[in-house]
Amino acid sequence: MKIEKTKLKCAVCGKQSNQEIVLSQHHFGVKQHLDTRCDNGMVDVPIQECPHCHYSNSSIDTCEEVTKKIVESPAYQAIVSSDLNKKAKSYIQAAIINEKMKNFENAGNLYLFATWVFEDENDNKNATKYRKLAYKNLIKVAEEKDDGDTYLQCTDLLRKNKEFDKANELAHKVFLDATNVDPEYRVTNEYVDLLNIIHFERKLIQNKDSADHLVEESIKAMGFVDFNSLFMKYSKKLKSHSDISVYAPIVYNMKSEYLSAVVNYLRTGEQENLVYGEYSTDMIIKSYWVEKLDYIKAVVILDNIEKLGEDGCYAFHPYEVE
Ligand SMILES: [Zn+2]
Repeated sequence: MKIEKTKLKCAVCGKQSNQEIVLSQHHFGVKQHLDTRCDNGMVDVPIQECPHCHYSNSSIDTCEEVTKKIVESPAYQAIVSSDLNKKAKSYIQAAIINEKMKNFENAGNLYLFATWVFEDENDNKNATKYRKLAYKNLIKVAEEKDDGDTYLQCTDLLRKNKEFDKANELAHKVFLDATNVDPEYRVTNEYVDLLNIIHFERKLIQNKDSADHLVEESIKAMGFVDFNSLFMKYSKKLKSHSDISVYAPIVYNMKSEYLSAVVNYLRTGEQENLVYGEYSTDMIIKSYWVEKLDYIKAVVILDNIEKLGEDGCYAFHPYEVE
């Protein structure tokens, strides 16, 4: 992250203070959570706060006419004088201003940033309280824009707050909306990912699971019917549908990293080299048979070797099974 320090004049009280401006941020290898949090070593956007009057915003050198009134309001001052985490306070203060000015998207995101600060501190009480406020604002955005992604995010906020009935209702709406899309969108990777996330979210709600979960877990949690249809859609590389009927159940029951690698291969054609001891998929493809071996078959053979030792090389030859 590139940060520049600068002196700014507060638009509310007119006093100067040192503030930080973020010039650029790197997002390499970021892991995304179902509630849209990204693991990049920090809670998202830094917020500026005037040390004199405690006006908090993305940049404190500008404000609207009503801002001063909001900063002076009892609700705002209650946060200023509270003993909450300093970073969370800045987010909540900025959220109050945005909420009052009907910038519901900003307000919702800022309450959510505060929620993540509390999650990191294992402060469940405040995490729940501010997640609820984040939901209250973001659901307005979802309804106004009729935006499926924001509805899905709201579903996760309800689930994490253990409001499972409401979460279930919203997840059902998201699912119905998602089945009602353009045919061209149906064949995109994005759509398959979306369906997986929706299925995963519904499964978590059914299990009354309120823990934090990563988007990448949704691939591992994919139901067999979804996996089979994904397999059929993308497996042009296989010779026939009988190949699909042989391989899909085998691959589906393999270790999650094998399943993920095959899903990725079907979608993108990229062959991730999986390794077990002295064996690897690259090695199997290059040397196992004289004919060029398909990646999926190599993954199946590696899985056999892992389960059965060296005999695994011989244990399963799909064409013999057929
Ligand atoms: Zn100020």
